[in-house]
Amino acid sequence: MQFCAQYMQSISLFYPRLNEPAKVVITMHQKPDGDAMGSALGLYHFLMALGHQVQVISPTNWADFLDWMPGIDRVIDFEHNREKAKKIIEETDWLFCLDFNILHRTKHLEKPLEAAKCIKILIDHHEQPQEEAFDYGISLTSKSSTCEMIYDFIMESGHANLLNLSSAECLYTGLMTDTGSFRFPATTASVHRAVAHLKDLGLEHTKIHEHLYDNFLETRLRFIGYALMNKMEVLYEYNTAIMYISHADLHKYDIKTGDTEGLVNYLLTIQGIKFGALVIDRDEERKWSFRSKGNFDVNTFARKHFEGGGHVNASGGRSSDSLDATLHKFKQVIKEYQNQLK
Ligand code: 5GP
Ligand code: MN
Repeated sequence: MQFCAQYMQSISLFYPRLNEPAKVVITMHQKPDGDAMGSALGLYHFLMALGHQVQVISPTNWADFLDWMPGIDRVIDFEHNREKAKKIIEETDWLFCLDFNILHRTKHLEKPLEAAKCIKILIDHHEQPQEEAFDYGISLTSKSSTCEMIYDFIMESGHANLLNLSSAECLYTGLMTDTGSFRFPATTASVHRAVAHLKDLGLEHTKIHEHLYDNFLETRLRFIGYALMNKMEVLYEYNTAIMYISHADLHKYDIKTGDTEGLVNYLLTIQGIKFGALVIDRDEERKWSFRSKGNFDVNTFARKHFEGGGHVNASGGRSSDSLDATLHKFKQVIKEYQNQLK
């Protein structure tokens, strides 16, 4: 009998390899957020300082509010430079996959990543990782962010002295955004200790908050007002609030990648609401964002009904149905959860 399945080995077994110069590709989930881009670039600056040849490849474009990040001008957007990216992936020695658990979270990059013959390393904090796809890795759902895990990786690598300010700025971005500015339960004492260390390296955190949150156009704020007023429904019998954004809404307010980030969180600010669901009519699919408070498990909900996943209190999913049809389905399936949501 042939032995096919290859299981992910502990990340600690990878550290000795860091001493030999290598060609490295770092990638993350599509439409990278602050944690995905922050962890990729945080690791990039560290591996460059170690003397490796490193390329970050994003599966898609990203929000403008990340464009200040050190090194982002050298990131390849796969959708705009497929041939170059494919060649680099074919020739790489190591492939780091950050902030996603399943290869299809990289959209059209999935096939080239799968086909790559290199050493593959996963560093992630989502539920149910696809372990058989990786040679080394670490998957800890208890971690606040992938940036926290890259910080730990650097600290435990034997080269902690190479953590520099550029890395610190990128890692702070994910530590802060994935913890909802240090408010979610995964914000442990270790998270605060890591941030204290980044501050000691010279990190100016106010500057980063301003880049991320005070740098939008007027149209985005008007769009949020419009959506809250016209596109929100509160289902009090299920302690649930929903919001639905059509293609025409996106067009009318000239909404770009990143402009809708954080919108779903408004739903949970209503007294008593435990479950918030936002659906946006994107070109190729209807994209869901789910958020919850307490023990209502939106990872399971997204997996079961909307081809998605994520974390217990934050997940996402998709549908090929029309906006009306996917909303209708949501209102049907929510009935199964009335007792849990009471
Ligand atoms: P967001 O709502 O901010 O897009 O995503 C919330 C969380 O769910 C993130 O951790 C994200 O990685 C995860 N997520 C979003 N969409 C999907 C999806 O379609 N599939 C899976 N497995 N996870 C998703
Ligand atoms: Mn993350």
